[in-house]
This record gives sequence, structure tokens and C-alpha cells, in this order.
Amino acid sequence: MQLTKEGYRLSENINPISLCQKYGTPIYVYDAHLFERQYLRMKNAFDVPNLKLNYAVKALSNINVLKFFRQLGAGLDCVSIQEIEIGLLAGFPPNNIIFTPSSVSLQEMRLAQAKGVRINIDSIPMLELFGSEFPDMPIGLRFNPHVFAGGNRKISVGHINSKFGISVHQLPHVLRIVNRLNLNIEGVHIHTGSDILDTDVFLAATEILFNTAKEFDNLDYIDFGSGFKVAYKEGDIETDIELLGQKFSKRFNQFCKEYGKELTLMFEPGKYLVSQAGTFLVQTNIVKQTTAAVFAGVNSGLNHLIRPMFYDAYHHIVNISNPYGKKRIYSIVGYICETDTFGVDRQISEIKEGDYLAILNAGAYGFMMASNYNSRLRPAEILVYKGNDYLIRKAENLDDLLRNQEIIDIF
Ligand SMILES: *Cc1c(COP(=O)(O)O)cnc(C)c1O
Repeated sequence: MQLTKEGYRLSENINPISLCQKYGTPIYVYDAHLFERQYLRMKNAFDVPNLKLNYAVKALSNINVLKFFRQLGAGLDCVSIQEIEIGLLAGFPPNNIIFTPSSVSLQEMRLAQAKGVRINIDSIPMLELFGSEFPDMPIGLRFNPHVFAGGNRKISVGHINSKFGISVHQLPHVLRIVNRLNLNIEGVHIHTGSDILDTDVFLAATEILFNTAKEFDNLDYIDFGSGFKVAYKEGDIETDIELLGQKFSKRFNQFCKEYGKELTLMFEPGKYLVSQAGTFLVQTNIVKQTTAAVFAGVNSGLNHLIRPMFYDAYHHIVNISNPYGKKRIYSIVGYICETDTFGVDRQISEIKEGDYLAILNAGAYGFMMASNYNSRLRPAEILVYKGNDYLIRKAENLDDLLRNQEIIDIF
């Protein structure tokens, strides 16, 4: 969203207030032009013969969003059988879907195998189980390089205590199993964690994977996961994708030469592709001054956007009803009956009851982590593209809350 002379606007000059009035609030709004911009930016940053960007479905799995990425040429990275099913419904061919789950059952692995998607194995026991049952199926291996990267313990998945992947130190054990079962390893994978700030840290982690890749002689791809950071506020460091792409492509092409094959380079960005495209629009219920602060209480809460409370994530908040008003200091809070804060001590144009506020960078892990806590309804999702707006998910109603409840007749 951008501030123009006339106020805040989405792409093609769409006024977010008109969307609030048309659909009611709260709503998640996704600006598909920004999906496209981010996808192309990432694609153009890498100069390698075969590049595949597999969009990480868990960031935002609305089927229309998946369809949008399909027509851009993306593949999908899925972490559950349900994400696979939605991806197939969105029209992705199975071989454009990669399944990278963690600690799932053999049963779920079998279901994914039956769908024909690519499989990434996350543990040695699963390698034994799955490999014994499907010795002919090409598989990928997810390794943990034990590189700590990322801003938050809850989202850093590459460090030594992380549950993810097979430790690179267990490579000899892996090779014994692969040889004994005569497995076809088509890919190796790392996902070091979210919020990689430093190009060189990322490059260091990749060297570990190159070393690992050398041990397998029939690879088809190397998958470097994700961790691409976007700016959540002014002055934030963002992954310098062009610089990373330039340095990394050189190294990757060189590795392929050493390896003797043009491998496919894969990434699985989630946040990078969809975060900035999403705006969460809410309305102010109450403005309350205490001796400590001025609170603006809105018609939403951690049930709809949990990142601030769960990860201490910063989401920029603006008053789109009063874009040029005098700034005052507010804490923006939700309506959930426990501490429920979207932002503390923010400078925001003066807020009156009824004003619409926009919570920015809400495309990734926003709606997806929404719940019905406090028996609240999950909001609608709107997609805007080429000057039009589309309802892509209805808001829930009371029936949705009661749908799966069985009323037993004993009291
Ligand atoms: C979550 C996840 C991603 C996406 O991470 P972002 O930080 O959203 O880019 C990619 N790969 C795997 C295996 C994941 O679990």
C-alpha cells in the first residue's frame, strides 16, 4: 500500500476504504500485483540454467493465490497432505509439488507418494521406512546444516537444537542406508530458517549443502529452502536478493561444473512472495485514554493476526481514514480477552472511533494462523488485481462455528 496525494492506495489506485465499505471489516486484502513483482524479482535475481521457485503454501494457501502462482510458473512447497490436495485442486501437476514435511506419519508419506508429488525425507527413521517401502521412487533428503540464522528462536530452524532435517553429521549413516536399499536420491535440501539478514551467512550454509550434495551422484536438484526477509518497517534490512542472486548463481554454476551436470536450483519462498502484498484492514471500536497510554481498540485481535503476540513481530499500522492527520502515540489493541496487542507506542495520525486502520505486511502467516478463539469468526479474504476486487473467501458465520459440533442429548 502506498501513500498518495489522495490517501492510501493499493495497486491501480484502488482505495482500501472502498473495500472496507464494500465488504465490511475486518478483511485481509491481497494485492496480486505485488505477488507478481516479488516472484519476478526473485526469478530475475538468479542467473542459472534451471531455476524453480516453489511457493511455500503454508504462508498463504487460498486456492486463488495458488492459481495465481501457477500461472506465473511457480511450483509448490507443501508441508501437509492437505496442502498437497489444495495444490492439486489449484491445477499444479504433481511433479511441480514438493512435499517437505516434518515428523509426519508414514501413512501421510504414503498418501503423498500416491499423489505423485516429489518427496523430501526429514529423518533417518523415515528414510528407512519410506525407502524400504518405495525403493524405486526418487526422493530428496532434507539436511540440517546447524547454521543458526534468523531473528527469532521460534522461526529459526537450521540451528543445532532444531528438530528439522537430518543432521549433516549423520551423512555416513545416510549413505549406508541409501546404498543398502539402493535408493535414488534426486535432491538435497536445506531450509535454514526465516529472516536471513546476511548474504554471507546464507552462502556459508550453502557450502555445507554443496559438500553434502557431492556425496550423491544422481542428483536432479538442490533445494536451498527459504529465509528471505522482507522489510516490516522503514529502515529494516531486507534480503538483498539481487546481490545474493549474483553471488549465489556464480557459485551454483561452478558447483554444477564440478558435479558434471546442470542441476535445477530450487528455492521455497513464502514470506518473500506474499507478505507485502497482504494488508489486514480493521475498524476502530474505541479510543480509550488511561493514565499510561492511549489505546485504540479495534474489531479484531490475535485470533486473526497472531504474529505480534506470538513472535513479537512488528507490523506497521496506519490510519487510512486520516492519512495526513496530526500524529499521536497509540497502542493498538484487539478485542480478545487476554493481552492482545498489535502495536505499542506507535506514532499514528489521530484516530477516531470508526476509523479504518491498515496493518501492513499481513500476507504471510496472517490469515493462515487465524483461529476461532473467543468464538470469533474468521474474516473474509479479498484479492485485487488489474483494478478489480474479488471476494476469495467469505467471512465465517455462526454456522461455521457450530458445523462440526455434535450436540449430545444427555443433559
Ligand atoms: C516455512 C517454510 C518455508 C517458507 O519460509 P518463509 O520464511 O515464509 O519464506 C520454506 N520451506 C520450508 C520447508 C518451510 O517449512
